[in-house]
Amino acid sequence: MKALLEKLQINDVNPGTCTGPDGWIDSGGDVLVSHNATTGEPLAKVIQTTPASYISVVDVAAEAFKTWRSVPAPKRGEVVRDLGNALRAYKEPLGELVTLEMGKIKVEGMGEVQEMIDICDFAVGLSRQLYGLAMHSERPGHRMYEQWHPLGAIGIITSFNFPVAVWSWNAAIAAVAGDTMVWKPSELTPLTAIATQHIANEVAADHGLHGIFNLVIGGGELGQLMSSDHRLPMVSFTGSIRTGRKVAESVARRLGRTILELGGNNAIIVTEDANLDMAVRAILFGAVGTAGQRCTTTRRIIAHQSIVDELTARLVKAYKQVAIGDPLDAGTLMGPLINKRAVDNMAAAIETAQANDGTVVYGGGLLPGLGAHFVEPTIIRMPQQIPLVCEETFAPILYIMSYETVEEAIEIHNGVPQGLSSAIFTTNLLTAEEFLSVKGSDCGIANVNIGTSGAEIGGAFGGEKETGGGRESGSDAWKAYMRRQTNTINWSTQMPLAQGIQFGD
Ligand code: NAD
Repeated sequence: MKALLEKLQINDVNPGTCTGPDGWIDSGGDVLVSHNATTGEPLAKVIQTTPASYISVVDVAAEAFKTWRSVPAPKRGEVVRDLGNALRAYKEPLGELVTLEMGKIKVEGMGEVQEMIDICDFAVGLSRQLYGLAMHSERPGHRMYEQWHPLGAIGIITSFNFPVAVWSWNAAIAAVAGDTMVWKPSELTPLTAIATQHIANEVAADHGLHGIFNLVIGGGELGQLMSSDHRLPMVSFTGSIRTGRKVAESVARRLGRTILELGGNNAIIVTEDANLDMAVRAILFGAVGTAGQRCTTTRRIIAHQSIVDELTARLVKAYKQVAIGDPLDAGTLMGPLINKRAVDNMAAAIETAQANDGTVVYGGGLLPGLGAHFVEPTIIRMPQQIPLVCEETFAPILYIMSYETVEEAIEIHNGVPQGLSSAIFTTNLLTAEEFLSVKGSDCGIANVNIGTSGAEIGGAFGGEKETGGGRESGSDAWKAYMRRQTNTINWSTQMPLAQGIQFGD
């Protein structure tokens, strides 16, 4: 472990405040201890960012913006290309640190760093494609077009469960867009953020840059400072609905912009003609992967009444094969939850489900023999979608419900406040299309014969309703990091007004 931390320049005590190469600030703030999610042992300490040092970091980011915004976007892309290459070089240790600190299994930790690399590649291409439209003016001798300018220094607040990938979805795109950024990771995963900052610093140093990628570390109060800071024209927030609501209110009060990537409550509809082998594999990965701690985790199954028993039996069989243990071991499929609070929340949800006629058909228990944060992945048959099932419990609990008609299935599917990811397993083309139609899934992501988790970076990622409406990553999500300007140029010697208005002559 010591060797791994050294490779990533993590010391016993680390400053948590940084403005770039040689820009680590000893803020004198309170010390935070980061723990190994699997054993609960301390990994290293972090000196948190104080309000005063936060202010100085945003000053640096705002000042750096004044030069960064004028660097041509394709040149900014070169910096992001080098960031992607540096992440390639650090993929193994950074992925391992994700596993140590957050607890996801090693292949998922590596997958998270691969996602960082992929988004850098995407952003490099994007740096030559920040297109605006040209319009035909209604006035003779006039030209009209739109262009996209960078926004400024932006805030990025991230959750514990994707401790580095979420930063990169924002940072790679924001950097080519010409923004500088201030990142506040989750206080539960500060070391992965510090390691990432060191990597970004190496790249920035090679390009003689300072103040583009900035880091602050702390809890909710620091996030609150960012939300109400008018110097950050946009705050990209990833986390729970409860916290997202606070961020949205604070940023809206100052009429700033947000990208909100909040909780999900993702379901899969399984029809009577579905390929159950495929469905079981997708459900297993979606419900058990990352120990149920993905925003896109499969939490609800809505299965046709004619196959619900068979599907449940097959899932139980598959769950029995899940190896639970040290996430660094190659054979492990499920590691621990992040902390004791997550374990307690899971236990409380199972109790409520049982008190409401839910039947635990698999799991339901804790695994203290493996460690304080280990739980059994759990399957619960629910006769109906009670309020508990409409909430996101951030743990590996899968609720199975049944339906009779497709309309009923879609109604149950959409009958929750969140709207992130969704899927249907069916071989019926008409049912698949209905699910994707305006009458179907109300989510930001809707899949056919693919599970709810494991999205690719090429598409815009995000969800509707209480998931917050934000979009990150691919497609045209870059527009949220820039401001649109409409320009009209009169190259004639006349002064015609729009709408044919005659004024004063
Ligand atoms: P959380 O809401 O507890 O914390 C998220 C971040 O908000 C942390 O950095 C935290 O320090 C910060 N924070 C806390 N109080 C704040 C305040 N008052 N103002 C500003 N920031 C504050 O979430 P979590 O437990 O870290 O993450 C799990 C949640 O994130 C789940 O609900 C999950 O679905 C969601 N999530 C969503 C997506 C998505 O893309 N939609 C991705 C990952 C996680």
